[in-house]
Amino acid sequence: MSESWGPAIVEAIRRISGTAEDTILPLHEPEFAGNEWQYVKECIDTGWVSSVGSYVNRFEKDLAEYTGSGYAIAVVNGTAALHISLLLAGVEAGDEVIVPSLSFVATANAVAYCQATPHFADVEPKTLGLDVERLDAHLAEIGAVGSDGSLYNQRTGKRIRAIVPMHTFGHPVDMESLLELGERYRLAIIEDAAESLGSLYKGRATGTFGLFGILSFNGNKVLTCGGGGAILTQDKELAAKAKHLTTTAKVPHAWAFDHDQVGYNYRMPNINAALGCAQLERVPLFLERKRGLAFEYEQFFRTVPGISFVTEPEYTRSNYWLNTILLDRSDMVVRDRILQDTNAAGILTRPVWTPLHLLPMYAACPSMDMYVTIEMQGRIINLPSGTSLAREK
Ligand SMILES: *Cc1c(COP(=O)(O)O)cnc(C)c1O
Repeated sequence: MSESWGPAIVEAIRRISGTAEDTILPLHEPEFAGNEWQYVKECIDTGWVSSVGSYVNRFEKDLAEYTGSGYAIAVVNGTAALHISLLLAGVEAGDEVIVPSLSFVATANAVAYCQATPHFADVEPKTLGLDVERLDAHLAEIGAVGSDGSLYNQRTGKRIRAIVPMHTFGHPVDMESLLELGERYRLAIIEDAAESLGSLYKGRATGTFGLFGILSFNGNKVLTCGGGGAILTQDKELAAKAKHLTTTAKVPHAWAFDHDQVGYNYRMPNINAALGCAQLERVPLFLERKRGLAFEYEQFFRTVPGISFVTEPEYTRSNYWLNTILLDRSDMVVRDRILQDTNAAGILTRPVWTPLHLLPMYAACPSMDMYVTIEMQGRIINLPSGTSLAREK
């Protein structure tokens, strides 16, 4: 391989986005063109910026309605949402939790916060999410059901308590077979839907299949609150527990400060929720534009031999959070050349995360054979995907 695909990709993205040579195209920048200013200003004008205020309740209600989840609890970020969901799913110190190695580090960190150990699983090339079939075979090989009915890792002697599927770049995991696997082994499913707000699997929103699902509203996600996250659940009792645990476990009272367990100060401030309410009003429009952008990318990459564009898996509708191309063959040199060329031209493409099982703090954790994840590291490039790129021109 002598020539880089870089210049052709730069030219195509300039054409698709209708931007000039000197415009920087971030990976995913936020857009505030709705009621954001009005709602945030109202918080400031009235003084309700912090832990009390009507926007938090409204945001939770709007999120539950939009996703079809029974309940939504707004918190400070997606990582905190994962932490609390794992605790409430019964993850205890010494347990193992199955997580994909191909994910943002928060997925594994939240497990570590519970003094549990991530047990890394490989992904499959079509969805870039957990390979359920191979995970099933792996669990059959290393696992044994104990007298308490729980699944144990025979190699470490530890209980495996939960599985955290992650809907990579917005593309849904094969949830049907995963739910079946979870049921068979009595493993709680907690969906890391941080990237997939608005994505559907068989017509139903990601984040609403597991015992819990979590969302992130970080600055680069489809919807941003500046920072923020949410816990989704269909279970009223678990929702109440999540609310309690994320609000310092304070016992409701007009003036007394009473707390009945070690709680967390994870509640989303009202000013962030105000931003979230305004952003959520525009999510349908964002998704439509992002879909249009993905379609244009797909059209272009059809003409490029050696590279394919990742489209939504069968039975799903993806939010196309981050548009993704795959090199036909894993090659870090070719990959880095494209990254170099595009970034030098102001088009801020990115590689995938370093696989989590290779990070120093997780290198000794249990894992299955990771050949797809390793291969994907040398094949994946994310393209600028912000909503403004696809604005009507
Ligand atoms: C963004 C993200 C999170 C949560 O991020 P926060 O910054 O804590 O909101 C978790 N998992 C994945 C896969 C993510 O992309």
